[in-house]
Amino acid sequence: MNDFIKEIEAANSIVVLGHLRPDGDCVGSCLGVYNYVLDNYPDKRVDIYLDAFKEEFMFLRGAEKIRHEKQDIAYDLCLSLDSGDLDRHGEFVSYYHSANRRICVDHHVSNQGFGDLCYLKTECCATAEALFTLFEEDKIGMECAECLYLGIVHDTGVFKFNNTTRQTMEIAGVLIEKGARSTLVIDGTFYRKTFKQNKMLAKALDVAYLCADGKIIVSCLTKDVFDEHEATNLDTDGVVDALRITDGVECALWMYEYPNQGTFKCSMRSNEIVDVSKIACTLGGGGHIRAAGCEVSGDKQSIIEKITGMMEQQLKAAI
Ligand code: 5GP
Ligand code: MN
Repeated sequence: MNDFIKEIEAANSIVVLGHLRPDGDCVGSCLGVYNYVLDNYPDKRVDIYLDAFKEEFMFLRGAEKIRHEKQDIAYDLCLSLDSGDLDRHGEFVSYYHSANRRICVDHHVSNQGFGDLCYLKTECCATAEALFTLFEEDKIGMECAECLYLGIVHDTGVFKFNNTTRQTMEIAGVLIEKGARSTLVIDGTFYRKTFKQNKMLAKALDVAYLCADGKIIVSCLTKDVFDEHEATNLDTDGVVDALRITDGVECALWMYEYPNQGTFKCSMRSNEIVDVSKIACTLGGGGHIRAAGCEVSGDKQSIIEKITGMMEQQLKAAI
């Protein structure tokens, strides 16, 4: 038995935390742990705390139990999942501090390591893949498998990003064998878009422009566009990947303004050359070499120039 499972066995109450604006890997990983414990240790208490996430993930078992408001409880064990640093937990970080034991499971290169135990598996495409390697395979049930499968599907863009390895595919195979409904997960949570999502994608593509001789693509939507369409960040999923696959483009910068005007979420992607995690880190964010993000306050144009400037610098250095 590995130390991760030993810690779970030793705890009576477990709190699971993910990151702000939870994505598929975050929700899938949190619910993967929840279902693993529920199936194998039904007497333990497991609570998950997350921000609002996409309605499409609600079919996963336990999704309706995820809490969005803090309570006055302390837990034996805190699991920090898919989060490169403690700031990513937002207000729920207090559960991390008040827990007796803390474990970090993550795959971000920008993670500096924290917790009593830290499983930083940067070779894994997703935190869900990292969790699979920590769980005892014969104890993974259908519901847990489906959650982990969803995490892997989302962080690999359906097995197409270059973080997809032989191990990823082999684990995905095992998860399907255990009952994960592949088509339901892929079509129902990745490809299907709401009308509003399509409208927001159209808006983002409409204002996109190329720079650095077509090597960089930029798009930014301000708060007024979100207000006009009654949209939130949940309605812009997939925009940055639509930008990234533009012919000739090496780097994509997708930005949108938060409801508190003047603060922007920046999502960066690169295809082969630029280390966007480095750029995100200099701006207080983090992520992976080919996919990273940060939050920046200030003037929209200056932020764009700053980020594209750093992208160009790396592009020039690579020539
Ligand atoms: P996305 O652009 O899809 O939001 O995020 C891409 C990657 O960068 C994800 O792995 C995500 O966890 C990371 N990331 C995005 N935004 C932030 C941020 O503000 N801070 C940190 N540390 N990582 C981020
Ligand atoms: Mn992830």
